[in-house]
Amino acid sequence: MSKLYRFPGGVKLPGHKAISTSQPIRKAPIPDRLFVPLRQHIGSAAECIVEKGQRVLKGQMIGRVSDYVAAPVHAPSSGTVIDIQKFPAAHASSLPSDVIIIEPDGKDEWMQSEPIADITELDKSELRNMIRFAGIVGLGGAAFPTFIKLNPAGHQISKLILNGAECEPYISCDDMLMRERPHEVIDGAKIMRHALNAEQVIIAIEDNKPEAIAALNTLADEYDWLDVQGIPVIYPTGGERQLIKVLTGKDVPSQGLPLDLGMVVSNVATAAAIHHAIDHQQPLISRIVTVTGSGVRSPQNFEALIGTPMSDLIELAGGYTDDADRLVVGGPMMGITLKTDATPVVKASNCLLVQTPADHAGEAIIRPCIRCGECVKVCPVKLLPQQLYWYSQAKYHDDLQSHNLFDCIECGCCTVVCPSHIPLVQYFRFGKSEIWKKQQETLKADRARERSEAKTLRLERIKAEKKAQHAARAKKTAAGAGRKKEIEAAVARTKAKKAGDTGSAENATDNA
Ligand code: SF4
Ligand code: SF4
Repeated sequence: MSKLYRFPGGVKLPGHKAISTSQPIRKAPIPDRLFVPLRQHIGSAAECIVEKGQRVLKGQMIGRVSDYVAAPVHAPSSGTVIDIQKFPAAHASSLPSDVIIIEPDGKDEWMQSEPIADITELDKSELRNMIRFAGIVGLGGAAFPTFIKLNPAGHQISKLILNGAECEPYISCDDMLMRERPHEVIDGAKIMRHALNAEQVIIAIEDNKPEAIAALNTLADEYDWLDVQGIPVIYPTGGERQLIKVLTGKDVPSQGLPLDLGMVVSNVATAAAIHHAIDHQQPLISRIVTVTGSGVRSPQNFEALIGTPMSDLIELAGGYTDDADRLVVGGPMMGITLKTDATPVVKASNCLLVQTPADHAGEAIIRPCIRCGECVKVCPVKLLPQQLYWYSQAKYHDDLQSHNLFDCIECGCCTVVCPSHIPLVQYFRFGKSEIWKKQQETLKADRARERSEAKTLRLERIKAEKKAQHAARAKKTAAGAGRKKEIEAAVARTKAKKAGDTGSAENATDNA
C-alpha cells in the first residue's frame, strides 16, 4: 500500500450508493426513437453529415468535426434518419440544441470495420486519431475529448491515473462497471498507457467499493506497471487535482495541468470506451447510467444507447414514485436539474437522480450570511466562498477573478455546510458565466475593431499604391514627352543640316 496524502477541506457525505447496486447492469432496449445531439462534449458541435430519410448503420458517423476541441457523433443503432431538429439538451437551461432523430429498424446492424492485430504497432498519433474519430470523451461527466488528454505534448508521463473514485453520492455506474467488467478497464488502460508512454498506471477507487477493488486486483497482478489503490472516502476526492494530491502529495499549479507534473487523469469508464473503440472498432454509442434516488421505484444501472430518452430509463426503473418532484442529471452535489425527462442520454449522462421534497427540504429557507466561516473550512481549493458570494451578488467581476473564482471546481462543499442554506455554488456558476459572457463580448468587440482597423489600413494602402502608380505614370509620360521633343529637335537638326549640305553642293556645281 502506497503512502496517501490529504487534500484541504472536503466533506463526509452519506453515500446512498447501495440502493442502485443490488442488481446487475441491465441492457436497456433500443428505444422507438433515438435523439442524438450534435454537441455532447466540451468544444465545438459536430456538423451533421446525414440527411432526412437516409438509412444509417450502427456505429456510422453522423456528425463530423473539423475543430480540434470537438468530438464526432455516431448512430447508436441502425435505422432511418427521420428528422434533424432542435431538442431540449441535458443542461441546466434545457435550451434546445441540434439533434439527429433516428427511427431504429430493430436490426441493430453494425458498420463493417477492420480489426487491428496489434496496437503496439500503431503509430501513437494514429492511435489518438482513432480514439478521436470514435468520439471518445471523458465519461466522468466532463465530456472533454480524450484524444487531447492522450497527447503528452513532449512531457514524460510518469503516472496515468484512472479515476474510479466516484465520490459523489448516489452515482454507482463506475462501481458497477469495475465490478462486472474489470477486463474492459484494464484493456483500455493498456491502450492509454501505450499512447502516453506512461511508466505506471494507478486505478484509484474509494474504499467504499470493495467489490470493484477486488475484481480489478484479480487481474492487475499480471501487470507490473498497474496498481489498484483504495483511497479514503471523502468528497470530492474524485476531482482531478484532489486525486493527484491524495495519491502523490503534489499540487497541480493554479493555472496548470496534471501534465505539468507528468500525470494524466482519466475516468475508468473512458478507459473501457477506449477498449471498445480500439479492440472492437466500436465508437462511443452507449454508456452505463445510474437511475436512482428516492423518487424512482427500482434504482439500478442501465447500459443505454446514447440518444435514449431519459423517460424510457425512468420507466425501466419502475417509474416515478408518487412524491418525485425533481430530476437531476449527475449527482446531488454537482448535477443539474432538468426541466423535462424527454431529454436524451448523452455521453456525459452518468446518473439520473430523482428526488422528492425530503431531499431538498432546507433549500427554501435561505438566510443571510452569518460569517461563520464553515464554507472556508471545507473548500478543497482554499477559496473564500463567503467573500466570493459577496462579490457575486455585487457583480464585482474583477474582485471575483482576483479571488480565483475560476479555481472553483463547483463541488458544492461550501453549499452543503452553509447553515444559512445559501446556494453558494449557484452564485459561482452564474458569476463565471457572466464573466465569460463579458469576455466573449469584449473579444467580439476587439475582433470587430481589429477588422475595421485592418480594413482602414488596407484602403489607405490601396489609395497610397494608386497614388504612387499615378505619379509614376505621370513621370513616365513627362519623360516620354521630353524624349519626343528631343527626337523632333534632332530630326529637325538633321533635316536642316541635310538642306544646308545640298545647298553647298549645288553652289559648288554652279561654281565649277
Ligand atoms: S457558511 Fe454560509 S453563513 Fe457561513 S460564512 Fe459561509 S456563506 Fe456565510
Ligand atoms: S464550490 Fe467552489 S468555492 Fe465552494 S467549496 Fe467547492 S471549490 Fe470551494
